[in-house]
Amino acid sequence: TGKQPVTVIGLGPMGQAMANAFLDKGHQVTLWNRTASRADALVARGAVLAGSPEEAVRANDLVILSLIDYQAMYSVLETAQDALAGRVFVNLSSDTPGKTRDGARWITDRGGIHITGGVTVPPSGIGDPESSTYYSGPREPFERYKSTLEALTSTDYRGEDPGLAALVYQIGMAVFWTSMLGYWQAIAIGDANGLKASEVLPSAEETMASMPGFLSFYAQRIDAANHEGDVDRLAMGLASVEHVLHTIEDAGVDTTLQSAVVDLFRRGVDAGHAADSFSSLVELMKKKSS
Ligand code: NDP
Repeated sequence: TGKQPVTVIGLGPMGQAMANAFLDKGHQVTLWNRTASRADALVARGAVLAGSPEEAVRANDLVILSLIDYQAMYSVLETAQDALAGRVFVNLSSDTPGKTRDGARWITDRGGIHITGGVTVPPSGIGDPESSTYYSGPREPFERYKSTLEALTSTDYRGEDPGLAALVYQIGMAVFWTSMLGYWQAIAIGDANGLKASEVLPSAEETMASMPGFLSFYAQRIDAANHEGDVDRLAMGLASVEHVLHTIEDAGVDTTLQSAVVDLFRRGVDAGHAADSFSSLVELMKKKSS
């Protein structure tokens, strides 16, 4: 086909979507997965299932990894270490920036090249050029395989440090997971009051739609170290988050998340910030917990 052949190792929902996207674009695809049966539908579409991780690695110069974390990479590539030299590993498994730097070193120590990736969309977004993936690592091999990687999503290259893609990815996830838990909490309150998730949705959407304005407003003030209580005061914030907690308690649903929120607001007030903005909590959160 003239297209770069690719190996995909790891066939969870994400790896399967990636292998399908490569097949859609006419790439030859070699697969390996710990649970071999996950390859069945892809083999039926023309992909080749390798008999071992080493065979999968040796099949192509470009190897995509989509595993649960970096530890799984060591488990899978343990027996393939002699085959790593000269090959490019694009690791789209998520982990901490530190773990991705260690993983990159493990690959380069064996003569391979490691590019870190952080996919920002669910499997349904793979194959869509509107979707985007953070990449970091050596620029030349990234540029060499950029057009092949664009079969998955568009690319957002962040620099040579292998930890950078993981860092921006984890920053996104830090916002994503807590925001989604806030949504689950709202759904639990609604449920206790006879509302379905679809009936909670409109006000959750309205609140989320207002968030970009808050994010940029406070980013500028935080960078200017301005926590003035001219727009909002932490004392008001504490009363407000307590109202949410009491609504949750009255509904008889789980208080874990909101109790932690109230705790942070209370610590801010106790530290003397009642008259400052609730953005002052960020200073509390910047401090390392002992
Ligand atoms: P899964 O957890 O479903 O897939 C994990 C893959 O890792 C499977 O192929 C599994 O093999 C393999 N695996 C796990 N542990 C081991 C091990 N010890 N040894 C060998 N193989 C192992 O995850 P997804 O496919 O959903 O995601 C893959 C990566 O993509 C993750 O890092 C995830 O954070 C990231 N990601 C996922 C998104 C999503 O919405 N799904 C969105 C953005 C990023 P087996 O089949 O044998 O269990």
